[in-house]
Amino acid sequence: MYDDNNIFAKILRGEIPCKKLHEDEHTLAFDDINPQAPVHALVIPKGKYVSMKDFAAKASDVEIAAFVRAVGKVAALKGLDESGYRILANAGLNAHQEVPHLHVHIFGGRALGPMLIKH
Ligand code: 5GP
Repeated sequence: MYDDNNIFAKILRGEIPCKKLHEDEHTLAFDDINPQAPVHALVIPKGKYVSMKDFAAKASDVEIAAFVRAVGKVAALKGLDESGYRILANAGLNAHQEVPHLHVHIFGGRALGPMLIKH
């Protein structure tokens, strides 16, 4: 079930400001409010999708194409193509997804270390 009161829904409605990086008909990208790297951007679809599973099942091909292209555009816009970057999407409890609206994180601007901490 999609929660219309999640923080990214509020950003999409213009109720909360964001530092916008890219916008098109289907996608919005903005800086993360609490950056974990020198570059930390978020890319979200404008549609009401909780997770990648939801998006993959219900979004149109046009929305999916716009989303993937926006990730590439924002990485380029942030100057990360040469130095490299990491994209990540948390889904559900084990991944500690905080905001229940699909988002891809783009991290860059420094060496990012190993992908996951081993326990
Ligand atoms: P998650 O843990 O759900 O993958 O990541 C949620 C991300 O949203 C976090 O990195 C957090 O800093 C970011 N975030 C939470 N609230 C806001 C907000 O109001 N504005 C922006 N720009 N980012 C937010």
